[in-house]
Amino acid sequence: MELFSPSIEEGLTLAQRVDPKYAPAWQGKTPQAQAALAMYFLPHGSKKTFLGPTRPRVIKWYCPFASQSSLPSGHRYCINVYTGCSHACEYCYASAYEPPQPAMKRDFTRLLQKDLADLERFDVPAAPIHLSNSTDSFQPLEASAGHTRLALQRILDHRRRFTSVIVLTKNPRLAVELGCVDLFLKLNSSQPGFLIEVSLAFWREDARHEYDPGAPSIQNRIEGVRQLRRAGVPVVLRIDPLFPRLASTDGKATATYQDWGLPQPQNIEDLEQLVAFGAENGIHHIVYSPAKIVQPRMRPLSSTMQKMRSLYESVAAPERLMFRGGSWRLPPSVQSTVTGPLLDICRRNGVPAKCCKQNLIETP
Ligand code: SF4
Repeated sequence: MELFSPSIEEGLTLAQRVDPKYAPAWQGKTPQAQAALAMYFLPHGSKKTFLGPTRPRVIKWYCPFASQSSLPSGHRYCINVYTGCSHACEYCYASAYEPPQPAMKRDFTRLLQKDLADLERFDVPAAPIHLSNSTDSFQPLEASAGHTRLALQRILDHRRRFTSVIVLTKNPRLAVELGCVDLFLKLNSSQPGFLIEVSLAFWREDARHEYDPGAPSIQNRIEGVRQLRRAGVPVVLRIDPLFPRLASTDGKATATYQDWGLPQPQNIEDLEQLVAFGAENGIHHIVYSPAKIVQPRMRPLSSTMQKMRSLYESVAAPERLMFRGGSWRLPPSVQSTVTGPLLDICRRNGVPAKCCKQNLIETP
């Protein structure tokens, strides 16, 4: 494979025009690395003064919206294997920009191959790769389309270009049923650093049914995690997102989710069960974050999330909800009451826990 080195000046010239929002990912790198990153991520023929990382077709910059000062994740990749997601989670942040119906990406195989060839051609330094931020890699569509499996096989062929490989899903059992365990183990054996992050935020079916209506049942996910762990696949458990519990701290009567016509997403007993399940199965660590209420793209809030927003306003009072980045969030003082008890339970069970952003930044 011919490497990029003959035209390193071209890459360095491009690198000088990188948008300040992304520039920290270029700083402190060797000239060869800066040039390679510029040639891979930045558009080659643009007339704009500042350039964003918009060039690759399938293996993209991890988060194209975020500034490196607010999300200092450095150079890392994401493949959103599909567009849309049939799990239809009520709190889905991708609903702000993704269509609701799942679909395959046109020309996925050829474009994936081109991006991998570019990583080799420009000799881009290794970095983590995530499947997928804005869709579920193992949603039911995978059974017929097989694009996640294909992407992982190609990544294995170019494993040295990736420091770690992280797959996020609510459907671990489908991954097992489709025979992906051997592939996961191979991705972790030639070079350690494969992790499958399984989202399991609820412990009761009434809550799962309300908030993750299209996703596999809790029992199905539990079985999937057990099968992966028995096979020796490293698993991260995402108890994510966390909702307020509305528990009274002074013994006085307080409002309940039923007052808003909603099932309680998580109570303390649920969190205890979830963490104990993770500990029993030797999970790598737990990831958590407080739930946001996301304004979906070109659609009104669902009835469930309209009720949840009203509940959030009540929980936040006398403070107001913060509306930032297309979603409503609880004020920080309330967020800490949402996440604090989970952290206590994790400490008691000896399970490491990381908030979502910390998890990302610390995944090397
Ligand atoms: S599984 Fe993830 S991408 Fe799919 S709907 Fe749920 S939160 Fe969104």
